[in-house]
Amino acid sequence: MPTFDFDLFVIGGGSGGVRAARMAAQHGARVGLAEAAELGGTCVNVGCIPKKLYSYAAGYAESFEESAGYGWKLPEAPQFDWAYLKTQRAKEISRLNGVYASLLMNSGVTLVTGWAQLVDGHTIEVDGKRHTARHLLVATGGTPYVPEMPGREHIVTSDAMFDLAPFPKRLLVVGGGYIACEFASIFNGLGAKVTQLHRRAHLLTGFDDDVRQFVANEMGKAGIEVRLNVEVASIARGSHGLVVTLARGQQVEADTVLFATGRVPNTQGLGLEAAGVALDERGAIAVDAHYRSSVPSIYAVGDVSTRVQLTPVALAEAMVVVDALFGKGKRALDYEYIPTAVFTHPNIGTCGYTELDARARFGEVAVFSTEFKSLRHTLSGRGERTFMKLVVHKATDRVVGLHMVGADAGEIVQGFAVAMRAGATKALFDSTVGIHPTAAEEFVTMREPMPG
Ligand SMILES: Cc1cc2nc3c(=O)[nH]c(=O)nc-3n(C[C@H](O)[C@H](O)[C@H](O)COP(=O)(O)OP(=O)(O)OC[C@H]3O[C@@H](n4cnc5c(N)ncnc54)[C@H](O)[C@@H]3O)c2cc1C
Repeated sequence: MPTFDFDLFVIGGGSGGVRAARMAAQHGARVGLAEAAELGGTCVNVGCIPKKLYSYAAGYAESFEESAGYGWKLPEAPQFDWAYLKTQRAKEISRLNGVYASLLMNSGVTLVTGWAQLVDGHTIEVDGKRHTARHLLVATGGTPYVPEMPGREHIVTSDAMFDLAPFPKRLLVVGGGYIACEFASIFNGLGAKVTQLHRRAHLLTGFDDDVRQFVANEMGKAGIEVRLNVEVASIARGSHGLVVTLARGQQVEADTVLFATGRVPNTQGLGLEAAGVALDERGAIAVDAHYRSSVPSIYAVGDVSTRVQLTPVALAEAMVVVDALFGKGKRALDYEYIPTAVFTHPNIGTCGYTELDARARFGEVAVFSTEFKSLRHTLSGRGERTFMKLVVHKATDRVVGLHMVGADAGEIVQGFAVAMRAGATKALFDSTVGIHPTAAEEFVTMREPMPG
């Protein structure tokens, strides 16, 4: 039996890597983890957490505005201090980095700081020092993708958005995915003049078509100029800021240009080829249902290998690997009915199938939807509206799609996701008593299906 320094060595201290390392160590395994940057990875440092904090910051602008309708007289117009928000965010993120370090240390994980490379199926090298392990886990995440184009050096990616200096008075967002939409909403709320360009006919590919149209309309009402079917040709620095030239010749000026045009797996400079780890057609590490790569001792979880790039998915995949290697045994993760939220203003919450996908998968479906002004906005004076939709498989009455655009949609949909995973039928929704007065109660009071 060969002897190894560790039972498991993890490359990457982000969502998936930290969870796997910590849980494996709690099972008594000898675990090492290499991280080249701050602990916590994308989610903690440049993703979910700072993004949500900034989304809260943007939400106050709406609240100040709405409060007048409820009798509040503000002594003077509220002022926003971008430098203060950045400092507060940095403090909180650094606290979280520390929490992650303590979690690892308290579980007995050996933390190695530096860039890790695979040498072979059982060996990695960090700063010239080699470590061996019975099992290796690659959890190196992903990175923003920016297409080649003239003037590419002038743009920023989502990684830079949290520390921009100065605050951009005019922000141009290129992209139509959830990250693009969220940053457009956040900076619009914080006071920037935001233009969002997308090369397709609708924002948010992969979401339900009604949701896509509804949210684009709400974002427009909130002040974002959403321009669809446009392609960027080049970017140059002009005398009054950046000049973005579109494929059809028009020009748009901005102080900051954010390209949120997708993400690619972090597979470069890892020694994957040397170790014989195969990639799939997207350039991600190819894994089987148990996250094992083409090299039996090397596993991969999270954004470097998965198709569902979300923190809770990376965590769940990590747990599958740990259970198989050190715990209860082999099991597979169920990717159906994974709920998700988009923190646009208003938020999107969604679980299960879009109407289109449900028709393709189940055949006949019934669709229930409603659109209304929430009670809050009867006095607030804002024109924001809420949208809800249920997609029901006719043959079984099971609710297979649930979609919402409106305040706190993410908070609301999480609970419904449990019911949907349990196979809740429309009849069960109908027999559930609503909570009044809430927006969420509409999900249990929609009675008439849409015609067709
Ligand atoms: C702007 C933005 C907003 C997001 N919002 C959400 C959200 O609201 N909800 C949600 O669920 N998900 C969100 N995500 C996605 C989420 O952040 C990722 O799915 C998640 O972080 C993936 O975890 P991971 O463990 O695969 O990788 P990461 O968390 O990216 O961790 C990878 C780590 O590996 C390290 N690393 C890479 N290569 C090496 C190496 N060779 N040696 C040592 N260390 C290395 C990196 O420094 C990094 O710390 C967001 C992402 C972005 C960009």
